[in-house]
Amino acid sequence: MIDQENGVFPAVCPLDCPDTCGLLLHKENGRIVKVAGNPDHPITKGAICNKVRNMAERVYHPERLQYPMRRVGAKGEGKFERISWDEAIDEITGKFKSVSETYGSESILPYSFYGNMGILGVDGMDRRFFNALGASMLEQTICNAAGNTGWKYTMGANRGTLPEDTEHADLIVIWGGNIVSTNMHQVVLAEKARKKGAQIVVIDVHRNRTAQWGDWFIPLYPGTDSALALGLMNVLFEQGLTDEAFMQKYTVGHEALRDHVRSYTPERVARITGVPETDIVKLAELYGKAQAAHIHIGNGLQHHDNGGMNVRSVACLPAITGQWLKRGGGAVRTNSYASTNSDALERPELRSNPEPRVVNMNRIGEALLEAEQPIRAMMVYCSNPLVVAPDTERVERGFAREDLFTVVHDLFMTDTAKYADILLPAKSSFEATDLYTSYWHQYVHLQEPVIAPVGESKSNVELFSLLGLAMGYDPEIFGETPEQMIAGALTDTGNPYMNGVTLEALQEHRFVKLDMAPHASYLEQLPTPSGKIELFSEAMAERGLPPLPTYRALVEGYDGEHPAGPDDVHPLMFLSPPNHNFLNSSFANTEKHQRMEKMPMLQIHPEDAARRNIQDSDAVVVWNERGRIELTAKVSEAMLPGTVISQGLWWDGSGRKQRVNSLTSNRLSDMGNGATFFSATVEVKRQ
Ligand code: SF4
Repeated sequence: MIDQENGVFPAVCPLDCPDTCGLLLHKENGRIVKVAGNPDHPITKGAICNKVRNMAERVYHPERLQYPMRRVGAKGEGKFERISWDEAIDEITGKFKSVSETYGSESILPYSFYGNMGILGVDGMDRRFFNALGASMLEQTICNAAGNTGWKYTMGANRGTLPEDTEHADLIVIWGGNIVSTNMHQVVLAEKARKKGAQIVVIDVHRNRTAQWGDWFIPLYPGTDSALALGLMNVLFEQGLTDEAFMQKYTVGHEALRDHVRSYTPERVARITGVPETDIVKLAELYGKAQAAHIHIGNGLQHHDNGGMNVRSVACLPAITGQWLKRGGGAVRTNSYASTNSDALERPELRSNPEPRVVNMNRIGEALLEAEQPIRAMMVYCSNPLVVAPDTERVERGFAREDLFTVVHDLFMTDTAKYADILLPAKSSFEATDLYTSYWHQYVHLQEPVIAPVGESKSNVELFSLLGLAMGYDPEIFGETPEQMIAGALTDTGNPYMNGVTLEALQEHRFVKLDMAPHASYLEQLPTPSGKIELFSEAMAERGLPPLPTYRALVEGYDGEHPAGPDDVHPLMFLSPPNHNFLNSSFANTEKHQRMEKMPMLQIHPEDAARRNIQDSDAVVVWNERGRIELTAKVSEAMLPGTVISQGLWWDGSGRKQRVNSLTSNRLSDMGNGATFFSATVEVKRQ
């Protein structure tokens, strides 16, 4: 494909989005001129989002990094000089060796996430390198750790309703996820269900695009999702809308749960959540009487102090109503049916320190500034922590340390890249070979290079292969081609869903469906300790967590029972969900995507605005003890009073501080050591 100047070539979207769309890249004179959806893809069927329709602008952006560079200005200033790849590899390996010898190899830390979802690049050659080096490990819990943990305590594995089944539901509840912006093909499937009469209910703190599209929007106070789920259970048990036979056969703890939820009366839950008592009863009745009710659990409710419990509580609803046996019924958090042979990919045996120091990525600022054993060198790739990590001001102070050696591998001069000592140009996904799975649908994709590398850019696999060989590590392991790595990753996966997914099949078809035969007996073999759905969890009790779903108020935040008082200096809850045209911090630097989003805004309720004499379009300052940012006010009734919202992870603008994570906390969630982005309080004033 790479050698053909003109034509249309298959590809896959590399972004951290559940849809994992099949793409077609149109090439003229060796350049991509159009990015379109692949109509032959069974799930995404040719439709793609605006973000990626405009992907060519990102690939050929004039500010794409073209060659390796060495910092010549102050940290953060963004001044660099060109160097060769040989010089870059020499400097990095020389520094890593000297840091290892002087301070120990665990003084080196990789920092990465899924800026590009290619498995070889972020769970492959990079892991081999840091294993061989004996570096500290990164606990990668910035995204869905809390929710996944809460779900797993209940269901055992991150598996739920299959996307295409959801069109058979007659009630679809979208809970805490703005799927119009973040999972557009679920919207398409829900529309099919709606045409057959299904009702779509949206539960969220924000009247976002999804809430506007749904039939019934139920706003609630941030972080009170667990209370609402418990209130619904109260009504379902009270009214006999539960499925006793299902609970007997497939669950443990239903009698304890029945007693436990008696205290979550609609009246009490209405007070906590801000949802009217009548709506709680109405929703419970709608859910309990539905033929097939599907709950789509988004990311929003898990990014709280109580995020794991929020998801666990919602996950109990289909279990007490027997919805798992209905076609289209049930729930989904993420669908992780696919998996690879991670030992073959990561080569853990290369590590001489099998229990290295682990640094939680949500606490990178604290780790850089306060770790007992200081971090002396960092390598950042597929992530932009100065924008995406919580408590950004602290993160920035950490990266500014003069004694810290930092390497950044990226497509652009991000806010983080400005702090690099060595800055390396990364290939886009369309320039490299990699393997992609979806965390929503059941197709595995192969991407092969469609265009030549831009400038001297290299993929993660190429970079870590070069570094490994330069360090003198085993050439058989560090000299593997991407194809050899994929073949290894797909061999002996121990996962029956992966039967038939081979390199050869992928090379022939570009995407291959998982073998879903084991799904038929999913409920019979749940990987929980009891083998059943655990409404009561001994494992949680052993870890000091409430074994039954239980509402706990936020560490930082308010609810209807504990509202902000006159002594609260930061009386507003601040939430920073995704916008429509960026994906985390990606696309925040491309003009077309910026234009589509206009500017970073703060949505504030008219009552809160009036109290502060704030008018629409006023420049406002938003602050708390962690930081201070400047936004433009949008007075709106899209949230309940007391909540303010800024969508999108903007980079710092020309002289304007606008990174929302300056205000978010690095506290960890109740389960899974996840991020608590949405449990933050602030005050606002006119600038
Ligand atoms: S970001 Fe999501 S919806 Fe957009 S093209 Fe990629 S996978 Fe599809």
